[in-house]
Amino acid sequence: MNDPVCKMPVNDKSAFRSEYKGKSYLFCSKQCKEKFDKSPEAYAR
Ligand SMILES: [Zn+2]
Repeated sequence: MNDPVCKMPVNDKSAFRSEYKGKSYLFCSKQCKEKFDKSPEAYAR
């Protein structure tokens, strides 16, 4: 799975994750998670 914010590959066991519209998204870092949480519609596929 890839980080939807920065497009980097992310380990499935990443501690940084969010749910949006019933889907889980993983992030490489807290910074990317926070960006996603602010405007998930801009990043969710
Ligand atoms: Zn990232």
